[in-house]
Amino acid sequence: TSPDFPPFEYIDNKGNIVGIDIDMMKILSNKIGCDMEIVSIDFNGLIPALINNQIDVIASGMTITEERAKVVAFTKPYWSADQAIIIRKDANINPQSLNDLVNLRVGVQSGTTAEQMISEFVNSTGKNINMVSYQSYVLAIQDLLAGRLDAVVVDSPVANMFVKQYNVKISNIITTNESYGLAVRKDNTELLNKLNKALDELLNSDEWQQILRKYLG
Ligand code: GLN
Repeated sequence: TSPDFPPFEYIDNKGNIVGIDIDMMKILSNKIGCDMEIVSIDFNGLIPALINNQIDVIASGMTITEERAKVVAFTKPYWSADQAIIIRKDANINPQSLNDLVNLRVGVQSGTTAEQMISEFVNSTGKNINMVSYQSYVLAIQDLLAGRLDAVVVDSPVANMFVKQYNVKISNIITTNESYGLAVRKDNTELLNKLNKALDELLNSDEWQQILRKYLG
């Protein structure tokens, strides 16, 4: 996991990696009868780490995309999200769309669907967005607050958490209809099937509702 994505995975004030994905993996591994160890890796290093056998599962708010599904196998979806445009609370801009971000400095996390969406917009329109890719969304938010960026584009549920934690606001949501899944190696169908079955049970349980209440209030 890449613990820079609250409420799914982040580092709490005691230094522990916590979040919805972490509690979810604890329960799923229990159901499957596996031990679990959380390994912290930058988001753009997760798929390489999975393929190289350093880790067995990616649980990191990862969107199921066609491109990724060529190299990893995804479980069924467990969450849905869109992309939010975040600006400073005192900003004198109010961007509503990618077009409104033209010629602005926009931060994203490296390897994310936000980065891909902006790259595709730039390539297909020939317009310019000064996109900066960060190793973590937390660093992007810090640069936004410091005035080195005009906006950050990030998944909507995470944007809602950043709004609570920092002096930022959401100027608009771009509907992308993304779904999060867990990822395993393509040849690990045994683990994929077990995870899907355990996920089915969990998503229909009170335990899941408790996890959501714990992290979302
Ligand atoms: N859901 C987005 C993606 O899969 C962002 C995930 C993240 O930054 N942890 O690219």
